[in-house]
Amino acid sequence: MSYLKTIEYRMIPTQSYTILRNCSGCGQKSSFKNTGKFRINANGNKLDVWLVYQCEKCRHTFNLTIYERRKNTSIPTDAYRRFLGNDEQLAEEYGRNLQLFQKNKAEVDTKNVNYKLVKLQETIDETACDNQTTLITIHNPYSLKIRSEKLIAQILGLSSSQAKKLIAKETITIKSTIQFIRIFVSDQFV
Ligand SMILES: [Zn+2]
Repeated sequence: MSYLKTIEYRMIPTQSYTILRNCSGCGQKSSFKNTGKFRINANGNKLDVWLVYQCEKCRHTFNLTIYERRKNTSIPTDAYRRFLGNDEQLAEEYGRNLQLFQKNKAEVDTKNVNYKLVKLQETIDETACDNQTTLITIHNPYSLKIRSEKLIAQILGLSSSQAKKLIAKETITIKSTIQFIRIFVSDQFV
């Protein structure tokens, strides 16, 4: 199948993930946010480094393990200094590092993530005259759970209800996997 236009985007989180977990302070499931602070524990020549998360309601903390009983000489001096100084940028980087959450078996709130769409490329095929269709591929490496009509509305500059109508009419069709969302827009719209 040929497409007149193919556009590719990458969906990237723009702030730290929120963790969903049972809070022993509140006695119920709660949202934990990145405090932007690190905690370091030195024991002989071994170091533990954590990123501190905090319950939104009661401020009970939850520490995400970055390093566990790591030889202090194996941690770069620059990184160590940034941990000590609670470097905000570094805390943000760890807060968006999905592997860190997986390693800590922390449940990420993937439904409430602020993200941006970065356009990777756009190609127009003048020879594709039989199928005047646009194919939009969105790479979702962080498996964010964003509603398709919201994404479509954002990319095509529509309202959510307009996007919903076009989906209902099958002018727009969607195929998604965990890491990819493919949106097909037929010529009736373009
Ligand atoms: Zn709490």
